[in-house]
Parts: sequence; structure tokens; C-alpha cells
Amino acid sequence: MTTKSALTVIGAKPLPQETHSCWSCGSMRAAHFCEACGKVQPPQPVDYFTFFGLPPRLDLDVTQLEKDFYDLSRRLHPDLSARAGSDEQEWSLEQSSMLNDAYRTLRDPIRRTEYLLHLEGRVLEEQSKIATEQARATGELKKQIVPPDLLEEVFELNMQLEELRRNQKMQEDDPALISEIKKHKTALEARHEALLQELHTHWKAWDKLIAHTQPEGAPGSEERAQITGKMLDVLNRRNYIRNLLRDVNAALES
Ligand SMILES: [Zn+2]
Repeated sequence: MTTKSALTVIGAKPLPQETHSCWSCGSMRAAHFCEACGKVQPPQPVDYFTFFGLPPRLDLDVTQLEKDFYDLSRRLHPDLSARAGSDEQEWSLEQSSMLNDAYRTLRDPIRRTEYLLHLEGRVLEEQSKIATEQARATGELKKQIVPPDLLEEVFELNMQLEELRRNQKMQEDDPALISEIKKHKTALEARHEALLQELHTHWKAWDKLIAHTQPEGAPGSEERAQITGKMLDVLNRRNYIRNLLRDVNAALES
């Protein structure tokens, strides 16, 4: 488990040592402010779930998350501590900025899943170092692996897109071709939707698993790796389809 991204979000300055007591009154502190005296605390290197006091669950109550966000925003707002010492003001800024990043990441289902996979040390295809290096070396755009069940469809669609671009250059019209491409588009959109449903079932499996293995989970747990592997697969396929749909839309609009 790594909290690297959470660490870098906090900023370049060296972090104060991790502590569980308030710098001002010595009471037990939360991640952001002291429950006893209300003073803002120096940031701690925590992941976004922990920042919100949540277990790393995926099927989140987004309405509750929003409420917590507004509540924390008010308490951490730098203006409120305008007259406080400059350290406190600085911490408010840093905590507020982390709060915004955490909220933006966790409220979005895809970004939330990607973040969790990142914490679990999983790397998406389009973020993978090997793919990036290969692309850089050949000077090409990064190529994604075509999901096997899409091979045939993608091959056909790419031929049709090629033809469409040729027609557009020659200013020729082929309504039959356009209607074929639109059929592919509808099918791809349906697949995209189905993948989101599939992701949801993996979320539920994940949440059930961590409910029994909190806080850290069994290291190297096979089940853990299995579920994150499935989520990774769904996201890779989803990203592929999203990119493909982008190409299709661009070709149809031009
Ligand atoms: Zn305190």
C-alpha cells in the first residue's frame, strides 16, 4: 500500500512529524483539526479516504461525502484563521487544498476507483510506464491494447472511419457508411454502460472484503488481488472504448 500521491499533494515542504496530539492543547487530534480546541493541525501524509475518516470503500454515500466536504471546508477555511499564527494559516491552506483534491477524486466513481487501484499498487494501461516509454521511443501516440472481444469490431470500424475520412476529403457523401458507423457507435455506448454496471459488482465485492479485513487487510491476500485485477481490467476496457468513441465522434462531426 502506498500513499505517494497523497504525500505529493501536500506540497514540497517537509512534513511535520506525524503525531496524534494537538500542537496547541495536547488533546487527541483528527487529521485536520483538533476536536477539543478547534485549531487547524499540520497536514499528515494520509490517503484521501483516511482524510475523510473513511475506510477505503468504493460504494460511497456521495451525499454524505458532500456534506462532510462542506463541513470540513468551513472549518479549514484559511480566512477563519486569518488572525492566527502564520503556521496555522499555512496549514489551513495546505489542508484546504488537500481537501479539494480528495473530494474531487472521491466523488467521481471512476476517479475513485482509479485512486483505490493506485493505492493498491495497480497501474492502468494508459498510465503504464512501459507504454509511455515505448511511445516516446517510437515518437508515436501511445497505443492501447485492444480488448480481445472487441478485435473484430474495432478492425471493421477503423476501416469504415478510414473510408469516411477519405470521402470527406473528396467531398463525397455515403449515407450507408455513416449509418454503419453510427450503429457501431450505439453498440460501443451500450458496452460502455455495461462496463460501468460490471464495475459496480466488483465494488460490492471489494467493500465486502475490506469490511472483514480492516484496517490494512491481509497482506498479499489473493482475493484482494483478484478483485483489484478485475476492476483494472474493466477500467482498461472502458478507457479503450472511451477513446474509440472520441475518434468516432470526431470523424462524424467533421
Ligand atoms: Zn487542541
